[in-house]
Amino acid sequence: MWDAGEFQSAISTQQDLYLERLRRLVEMESPSGDKVRVDRIGKVISDDWSELGLIVEMQSQMESGNQIKIRWDPAAVDPGLKPWLVVGHFDTVWPVGTLLEMPFRKESHLLYGPGTYDMKADLVMAWLTVAEMQKRAIKPSRPVVFLWTSDEETGSHSSRELIERQAKSAHAALVLEPPMAGGALKTARKGVGSYRVETRGRSAHAGVEPEKGRSAILELAHQVIQIQSMAAPELGTTINVGQIGGGSANNVVPERAWAEVDARVATLEEALRIDSEMQALKPVTPNVLLIISGGLNRPPMVRTRATEVLFMEARRIADRLGRSLMEGATGGGSDGNFTSAVGCPTLDGLGLEGAGAHAPHEQIDLRSLPFRATLLAGLLCSELDINHEERP
Ligand SMILES: [Zn+2]
Repeated sequence: MWDAGEFQSAISTQQDLYLERLRRLVEMESPSGDKVRVDRIGKVISDDWSELGLIVEMQSQMESGNQIKIRWDPAAVDPGLKPWLVVGHFDTVWPVGTLLEMPFRKESHLLYGPGTYDMKADLVMAWLTVAEMQKRAIKPSRPVVFLWTSDEETGSHSSRELIERQAKSAHAALVLEPPMAGGALKTARKGVGSYRVETRGRSAHAGVEPEKGRSAILELAHQVIQIQSMAAPELGTTINVGQIGGGSANNVVPERAWAEVDARVATLEEALRIDSEMQALKPVTPNVLLIISGGLNRPPMVRTRATEVLFMEARRIADRLGRSLMEGATGGGSDGNFTSAVGCPTLDGLGLEGAGAHAPHEQIDLRSLPFRATLLAGLLCSELDINHEERP
């Protein structure tokens, strides 16, 4: 067995290398929809991983950025074993030009910049972890597939199929997204649904012949109240009508109105209930059209027995390093929702500690790098039998 404490110290002496690699990624802006920029950073990342001698495969996409799949098949590790799947993304929510106001900078042990915490810091952490494992001839317990994707922040529309396919044949998924505040891992995530509600009435002069009009806004108001009442906080289901619009002028009975709805669910049953109630909405006012589009975007990531086994293993690794590790549930979604929903045991929130995801003070705490890298290495080496699979 390798010495986790020694591994941790070795990582802490490599801060300069880490900073240099991270700076390079943060200073290449990569908002999800910008294929040219996202592909450019994807090329840099794949070159970094090729440098480690791993097999890097670029999956070309027409509209979104290309996806990166990397396979690590160390000698003497049975290539027929189900691999670990490590998941992360290199797109960010930040538009081009953000760097001017939020430059990459280091203040004491904090590193600031767009996409540091969510989650370029973690791709570099994984890279450094593999490099250090190779240097010390530490082998993972099974092959490892790393999936670095280009469109997580906008719902993973182009990467979802790839993520699900890899997850179906994986031993377990380790998702490098940011942890809970305080560093706790994420063992449950809510599912996310998003809907658009449109109403179409009939416009008329509001002073001359209002009786000929059919107000799309009045109809939408009825619907908003109906939709909000689908929430069931005691079951973990929350609803937010987050945006609304409509009408053309004060003196016109509005012909059109719309609303955008965000729904969060903790269980699949609730996801199905919300979806069927949304699809079953009927207009209240006569002669007004109601159009519902959208649906469940990410299924819930439910804490299963296998999740618990995985988390306990992470906790044992932390214990050996004199650290306590907690777990928690969040309302936010990630690609862990997809891996978990196809039945792959999933542990999420394995990234560096920090703060301010999607906020101007986005930062990571460099002091968490050695521990998080060692935790990842420890998991990859774990001989844990999660599902009694592969047993004769
Ligand atoms: Zn993220």
